[in-house]
Amino acid sequence: MSEDPNSKNCKICEGKAFTTCSGCGIIICAKCSRFELIGSGCGWPAYYCPTCVQDPCVKPNAMLRDS
Ligand SMILES: [Zn+2]
Ligand SMILES: [Zn+2]
Repeated sequence: MSEDPNSKNCKICEGKAFTTCSGCGIIICAKCSRFELIGSGCGWPAYYCPTCVQDPCVKPNAMLRDS
């Protein structure tokens, strides 16, 4: 239950760390990460947390999605 500075866990569900959000930089697990391609056409891959993936300010492509 105590915080271990050496263990980096998902900031959302405390799961196993997988990557960091490209938007806000928090640690996220594979389950909480959202894979997106940045840019149009042949964009580059990035992972976002569930918050940033819905934020058009962070991820411009969000506004191109159907709501
Ligand atoms: Zn998680
Ligand atoms: Zn984020």
